[in-house]
Amino acid sequence: MKVTFPHMGSLAIPMKALLEEAGLEVVLPPPTSKRTLTLGSRHAPEFACLPLKINLGNYLEALELGADTIIMAGGVGPCRFGYYGQVQREILRSLGKDCDFLIFEPPAGDFKGLASTCRRLFAGCRPAGILRGAKIAWAKARAVDKLWQVSLWARPREVERGRTSKIIRKLYHKLDQACEMKRIRRIVREGIEELKSQAKGEPKAHIALVGEIYVVLDPFSNQYIEERLGEMGVEVSRTIYLSQWIVHHLVLPTFRLHRPNRSLGLASGYLNYAVGGHGLETVANTVLAARRRFDGVVQLAPFTCMPEIVAASILPRVSKGEGISVLTLFLDEHTGEAGLVTRLEAFVDMLLRQQRQRRQGHGILSWA
Ligand code: SF4
Repeated sequence: MKVTFPHMGSLAIPMKALLEEAGLEVVLPPPTSKRTLTLGSRHAPEFACLPLKINLGNYLEALELGADTIIMAGGVGPCRFGYYGQVQREILRSLGKDCDFLIFEPPAGDFKGLASTCRRLFAGCRPAGILRGAKIAWAKARAVDKLWQVSLWARPREVERGRTSKIIRKLYHKLDQACEMKRIRRIVREGIEELKSQAKGEPKAHIALVGEIYVVLDPFSNQYIEERLGEMGVEVSRTIYLSQWIVHHLVLPTFRLHRPNRSLGLASGYLNYAVGGHGLETVANTVLAARRRFDGVVQLAPFTCMPEIVAASILPRVSKGEGISVLTLFLDEHTGEAGLVTRLEAFVDMLLRQQRQRRQGHGILSWA
């Protein structure tokens, strides 16, 4: 069995560790590129959301490299993620691709389906290897997130432009190679020191990044927005991390330990119920950012993403009610770099102007 899975930011680092430690042969899709997106867009329905197209491109590229089994997460709820896997499987079949497609559906009270998919994937693997894989994968998922978080803090303060991005790439490569817990912990410790040591000064502004999980976590699909903002001197606070998503959406529901997320209550009055995906989180986190006195919020959403369209229609009211500026960016295969950079620069300029106005006691400029 030669297993593959789609990219989503740095998901490949922990996922590869889990599967390889369990004893499976992994065929990684090449890093997501223009070719990946072109392949996926060519074969996906035109109005499918961007992550589906990119994932499809990842599968096609991995199949070219010899993969024969695809792993994909399933989903429940009002958005299209619930039938993503099935749609992708049918597209691959229609293209004559001969491969197994394993969809890990969230258990929702019934573990039989999940257990049977796990048995199919790990058939022949030693339980000790699977457990060790899970432990190392979890440590790597946390390490990746911790280092990224520090890089977001360091980038707007870096003395030499581009240095933070170079360091984080090097650290991720080291993490990918690491096989021992001790080594992972050391990479994190030394990585944090290295990132912090080259950071001086203060950022010009603080922005919270909210929106749909895939485009928030995946730098290719969001056109490296965190790097771009950081290099403009803006400190970005990302509201979603992979390890946090694993705990809240996979581990806790699997063991029926689901804890209500109290910060979602902040959306009350603007949006009172879940609309699928991260729509409710987007609204709640925008309110939270305003109350924590961030300068602005950037909402990222794949074009045609239903939950984020709902959130985007509510955010102007949140912006007015809470006094925070919001920029919504819908992303798809036609999103051009120059247009995106122009909008970001204009938004940051406006935030800086608002800061000056506030300092001079003129109140906040309206974002209309
Ligand atoms: S949340 Fe949006 S982008 Fe993600 S699967 Fe659902 S509709 Fe598509």
